[in-house]
Amino acid sequence: MRPLVFGVLGLVLAAPSFAEKAPFADVHLHYNWDQEEVTTPQEAIDRLKANNVVLGVVSGTPSERALKLRKAGGKWIVPFFSPYIHHRGRADWFTDPKVVDRAREALDSGRFFGIGEAHFIAGVGPSFHNEVVQGLLDLAREYDVPFLIHTESSSHEYFEPVCRQNPEIRFQWAHAGARLGPEEVGSLMEACPNVWTELSARDPGRYGYFADADGSLDQSWIELFNRFPDRFMTGADPVWPPGSLYRWDVADTGWDRVGQFLDFHRNWLDQLPSELARKIRLENPKRFYAYVLDTPAGNLRAD
Ligand SMILES: [Zn+2]
Repeated sequence: MRPLVFGVLGLVLAAPSFAEKAPFADVHLHYNWDQEEVTTPQEAIDRLKANNVVLGVVSGTPSERALKLRKAGGKWIVPFFSPYIHHRGRADWFTDPKVVDRAREALDSGRFFGIGEAHFIAGVGPSFHNEVVQGLLDLAREYDVPFLIHTESSSHEYFEPVCRQNPEIRFQWAHAGARLGPEEVGSLMEACPNVWTELSARDPGRYGYFADADGSLDQSWIELFNRFPDRFMTGADPVWPPGSLYRWDVADTGWDRVGQFLDFHRNWLDQLPSELARKIRLENPKRFYAYVLDTPAGNLRAD
């Protein structure tokens, strides 16, 4: 009998750990050239599976890197076209009209399902009147795909005229405005029903002021989630270390921390009523990305 007992015990112990974790739709992933140096596409996919990620939205620099993740993972990986088409692209993408041509080709290919992440930084640019920016907004409208936007300024009023003037474009607002507080985020969401806000990178290591050092969620943010329960989402944003993107000499090890980032989010989600937490973790992304998922097979990871 003993071998049988050990056999059964072995099966129990070998049960995959992700079975315990609730399914998670991660709407903010990156797979960049300096990440592939340390994490292969298959390793990245394995880490998402180990954390029970069932939908992953990925920006790559260059964009083809995001396609590698889809190839390794399947249709539950949703690649976005990144406007950063060369190694200095993050700094000067808005000065190069070729970005718009490349975005059109990418969307036309049927292999990309959105535009972004595009960074708008106060004091750096670009202005929303910029020709390249306007070209990308036109494409988001024409192809009916979301625009993933990272705004970083001291005021939500920076973004508000743009979302107001483009009500038919669906904006995914990265990091809930990065440095903004719940009052400003709420004001923008009130003004623009076409803005869906995500909370990637709001951890203490990056854009803090969201939860305290123990991970306890701030009460004013809880109130904001309750005010807009159907328009919040979140994601890991596996970029590490922060603030030093695209170095030439050291690789980005963000994918080594993807489980840690996701656990941070699971921890604050656990502080919310379970129905609200489920919306942010899974149901809201399923609605925002319905245009990708609404196929006969559905595209959430099922294995
Ligand atoms: Zn960002």
